[in-house]
Amino acid sequence: MSTNTELIHAIPVDPLTGAVSVPIYQTSTFVQEAPGINKGFDYSRTANPTRIVLENLVATLEGGVTGAAFASGLAAIDTVLKLLKAGDEIVAVDDIYGGAFRLFTHVYEKFGIHIKYVDTTDVVNIVDAVTPATRLIWIETPTNPTLKITDIEAVAKIARANNCWLCVDNTFASPALQQPLLLGADIVVHSATKYLGGHSDLIAGLVITKDNELGERIRFLQNAGGGILGPFDSWLVIRGIETLHLRVKQHSANALAVAKFLQQHPLVDKVYYPGLPTHKNHEIAARQSKAFGGVVSFSLKNDTEEAAISFVTGTRLFKLAESLGGVKSLLCHPAGMTHKSIPEEKRRAAGVVDSLIRLSVGLEDAEDLVADIEQALNKPDAASSENRKIRSLSLG
Ligand SMILES: *Cc1c(COP(=O)(O)O)cnc(C)c1O
Repeated sequence: MSTNTELIHAIPVDPLTGAVSVPIYQTSTFVQEAPGINKGFDYSRTANPTRIVLENLVATLEGGVTGAAFASGLAAIDTVLKLLKAGDEIVAVDDIYGGAFRLFTHVYEKFGIHIKYVDTTDVVNIVDAVTPATRLIWIETPTNPTLKITDIEAVAKIARANNCWLCVDNTFASPALQQPLLLGADIVVHSATKYLGGHSDLIAGLVITKDNELGERIRFLQNAGGGILGPFDSWLVIRGIETLHLRVKQHSANALAVAKFLQQHPLVDKVYYPGLPTHKNHEIAARQSKAFGGVVSFSLKNDTEEAAISFVTGTRLFKLAESLGGVKSLLCHPAGMTHKSIPEEKRRAAGVVDSLIRLSVGLEDAEDLVADIEQALNKPDAASSENRKIRSLSLG
């Protein structure tokens, strides 16, 4: 069976009523016949019938055995970190999602967990960083916002050889493009807020594991910590996933068109998109994912904050907002928004220069998106701050 067919039929018809859409079991508790005798559910923090449909669905999608749904991507990440104990080490990708960095460094360091950040696009850096205390290797591929690619299969081998877990944050690719568990990873996490939900209308997170034992530990922590996803939001994610393959295919096609347009534009400096043959690890991306996703970043030849602000406020279809992965195109200015708290030198070294702009390419028609970018680039300020001076002079 093809993936799409499998996906659509992995969402069960309601056995009780035949309802085609999954019922929303908006209940906290379940009546018991006698103490401990129930229909498989006793309390919705522990298990809820709507949430379970989502959890089983994402386990299937990722090629894993256990899924667990959380109130946010960060609640999911937080739960994975609770597998560790004081003295354990994590080796993590250096341009990790900002919220994960905050959680690792400003919360878990305090409990005696040590984190080393390395450039994982070159796996030798991971080999060098791993010690006998390393319990977890943490990667994102592609990363945010410069779309760096790491070889999942190669890192999985390093993890196995060193007796530690590999966790992949698969938010940017989604399981429609990339299935890290099938490449040897032990754990996958998602911010389902992005492509899985797909409509910019919810916050949710997921953890999927390859084996049952680890899955049971995650489920235990899910119930113990309690950061679960509610029934209604679980239903929204299920509905989003029904069209995931279709959406991600179109996001990827639109993003490639946008990236190609940007690459030949005279005012654009660097373009970051794993689908371009000029991308450092394009071949790895092509090997481990079906397409290259909907996020494109680029910088301007006029590398100034004013030029970037002129662009991000000059588009009509691309709306200025944090987040990504929805139907509507969004854009953001990482240096002034998502990466503001990172020291300037460190930020620049990571490629997040003053004029870097991140696009979440939506599902509008590609030619309209390209035209929108073109008109915003042609505004005088995006072209040059010199123009602005000239203009203000001529205005007297
Ligand atoms: C957004 C995001 C997160 C955090 O998810 P929330 O749902 O916002 O808590 C984690 N990882 C990546 C890669 C993200 O883009």
